[in-house]
Amino acid sequence: MSKLDDELDIDADSETLEVESPLGIEGDGSISLTPSPKKKNKQGKSGESATSLPPVMALLPVRDVVAFPNTLTPLNISREKSKRVLDLALAESRIIALVAQRQPDTEDPTLDDLYRIGTACRLLKLYKLEDGTQSVIVHGIARIGIEELTREKDHLEARVHAHFDPVKQDKVIEALTHSVRHAAHQVIEMSDEVPEDARIVLDSVGTPGGLADFVAANLSLSLVHKQELLETLDVAERLRKVHATIVGQVEVLELAKKLHTEVRSKIDQTQRDYYLREQLKAIQSELGHSDARGDTLSKLEAKIVEAKLPEEAETETRRELDRLANIPQASPEFSVAQDYIEWMASLPWAVSTPREDNIKKAEKILNHDHYGLEHVKTRILEYLAVRQLKPDSKGPILCFAGPPGVGKTSLGKSIARALGRKFIRMSLGGVHDEADIRGHRRTYIGSMPGRVIQEIRKVGSNNPLFMLDEVDKIGQDFRGDPASALLEVLDPAQNDTFLDRYLDVPFDLSGVFFIATANYLDPIPYALLDRMEIIELSGYTLREKLNIAKRHLIPRQIEEHGLLPKQLKFDDKAIERIIASYTREAGVRNLDRQIAAVCRARAAAIVRKQRRSSRVTVRSLTRDLGPIEYEPQTADQTAVPGVVTGLAYTPSGGEILFIEATKMPGGGNLNLTGQLGGVMRESTQAAFSIVRSQAERFGIDPEIVLAHDYHIHVPAGAIPKDGPSAGVAMLTALVSLLTDRTVDPATGMTGEITLRGRVLAIGGVKEKVLAAHRAGLRMIILPEKNRRDLPDIPDEVRKDIDFVFARTIDQVLKAALSD
Ligand code: ADP
Repeated sequence: MSKLDDELDIDADSETLEVESPLGIEGDGSISLTPSPKKKNKQGKSGESATSLPPVMALLPVRDVVAFPNTLTPLNISREKSKRVLDLALAESRIIALVAQRQPDTEDPTLDDLYRIGTACRLLKLYKLEDGTQSVIVHGIARIGIEELTREKDHLEARVHAHFDPVKQDKVIEALTHSVRHAAHQVIEMSDEVPEDARIVLDSVGTPGGLADFVAANLSLSLVHKQELLETLDVAERLRKVHATIVGQVEVLELAKKLHTEVRSKIDQTQRDYYLREQLKAIQSELGHSDARGDTLSKLEAKIVEAKLPEEAETETRRELDRLANIPQASPEFSVAQDYIEWMASLPWAVSTPREDNIKKAEKILNHDHYGLEHVKTRILEYLAVRQLKPDSKGPILCFAGPPGVGKTSLGKSIARALGRKFIRMSLGGVHDEADIRGHRRTYIGSMPGRVIQEIRKVGSNNPLFMLDEVDKIGQDFRGDPASALLEVLDPAQNDTFLDRYLDVPFDLSGVFFIATANYLDPIPYALLDRMEIIELSGYTLREKLNIAKRHLIPRQIEEHGLLPKQLKFDDKAIERIIASYTREAGVRNLDRQIAAVCRARAAAIVRKQRRSSRVTVRSLTRDLGPIEYEPQTADQTAVPGVVTGLAYTPSGGEILFIEATKMPGGGNLNLTGQLGGVMRESTQAAFSIVRSQAERFGIDPEIVLAHDYHIHVPAGAIPKDGPSAGVAMLTALVSLLTDRTVDPATGMTGEITLRGRVLAIGGVKEKVLAAHRAGLRMIILPEKNRRDLPDIPDEVRKDIDFVFARTIDQVLKAALSD
């Protein structure tokens, strides 16, 4: 291996040397020196021997370089004294003594400034460069010891003696040689800088000392370290030192290699990721999606800002937005998170309509929209007045109770209009699941807030009038208790922090004006009922219906059918006929529908026949509405023993029902049919027991009672019936049957009985009486205790009906049974 590793400056101002090949020494514009004819790597014996070396030779002091025997060393020469040494050497034997200076910066060294061991070298090639410096290549011949300087003027000259390595070898040297060679091979293998040829040169080095020198020359070591190796004359020792150094070098190289691979693999991973990401971007932009995601995120962000969320809600929403940024768009989780943010941002957290608590206006609107309902309107206005006086009062919730079609919803709408609030109506009929009200946790795709929050979003205001329809129809089953969830919604004490499971942050419902409606109060859970102020609306009388139709329903339907008031006129008699023969209801919903049907028919006729106007009369009704739908219920009833007209109170208002009893030979058993509920069955049992136990009092032979089986049936068997108020009618039917005395079908009765024969008060009197009136009854037997309800009954009804108030069953039977 050529001595390229040590590119040396002999002078500070020297230039780099060029050496083309280790041994074939040719060059352009150079003075070619004939190489030494002798073999270079044979020292001691056949190399330059001690005798062939002149005892006195020109001495070339060098800085920062140590030349080893048997190696090539390039040098730059710039000092005049040194140039003179070269000239001299060229002129004579071409052999010089190369000795390192102890201090590189000593300009004119004396013996003391030099190491005492150097190398005798042969000049191989010399270049004279343009700037006056000279480059030489020397070949080391042997170690020399400097004895003394024989000349110091002009140039240095010294007396020297040579040190050749002994030829004899031992096992230790052999082993060391092997180790050094092995380590050197490792270095060559691991180092990128050492050319592969070095292996050949290394193998061609024959002697152990030569090997040590070769390796030492090629290691990057400090001057001092190299000089120490040069001065180590003992071969074994030199090999040991070289070995230690080269093994250190192997370790360094190994470490370097390891670091390199680590760095490399790290870079590889980063590059791979980068590459894939770039590819993904390219694919997305090819598909036109490049900015879709960023777009979505920034739009959501804008929505959040716009929604003016309260702090807690905003924190939660922003957390979700941050999460969204890290979820792949194709993942289902992305849409879950996105939906949530959309929901949050679209709720009217800060949107409300201005409060207009103006009682006068409210009164005007209520009166304008509704006929009658005086006490209802009064109570509503009282309620509003309190709210106006104390806006933050946490008063009870209003609940309108009454049969369908009596104006509960339309009252709610009027109140909303009067207060300038938006209106929401939500039916609770068939709500069994708590989650309907409170929502589902947003763990699954498609989960949503509960209906309360959904409606609030739909209406876009946080202080609407919220009508909860049919609270009595709310169910309860294994899916939780919606009533208790509803309580949270309604309860003013806790609805300012209503927690929908989906939103997971409280929404303030305290600005909402809740009104509940119910057909029937019985099924409403007590806790809910307790928080509500009940306003009862009952069915209308014929006259009320007539007025409602004339003032509200007809004008509205005429308008809705694109007609003018003067184009269509309804006779009062015709309206009454519609009410009596085409509808049977407590409210006016069907009446409204029938009026609409008439308007439809007449609108068609007016268009077809180009009539200017049209009049609805009793006679024309069959043309508009077909044959009459309802006969008076009692009209076809003839008095038969065992048949009695009872009065019932149902969710759709009052009703009359016929109780039929019959007997057959048997053993005193009672059979009941007609979908009777438990309470009704029990009251029938009680009636039967009274008959059996007190038969003689009623003029019945107890033997006959026991000789028969009895069957009581209540027609319209498909409709479930329940309640204790049929007791009186059941008893009357049995006594009528057994005494063979009839009861006038136009006589209705209602009342609970005790086994001791007392008649107890019942509810729903007004609805029952109105129904009886509709059905054309002329006499009604009521419990004495219900006399207090009489004032509720409109005069027009009261004057058509005879009321009998009974304290005991004897009084009932006396009034009911014919002679
Ligand atoms: P509910 O909610 O009690 O079932 P609605 O409010 O739907 O009944 O009333 C049915 C229809 O009857 C509505 O068009 C309503 O305007 C009308 N109506 C009911 N009562 C009155 C009334 N007293 N005056 C005017 N219209 C009425």
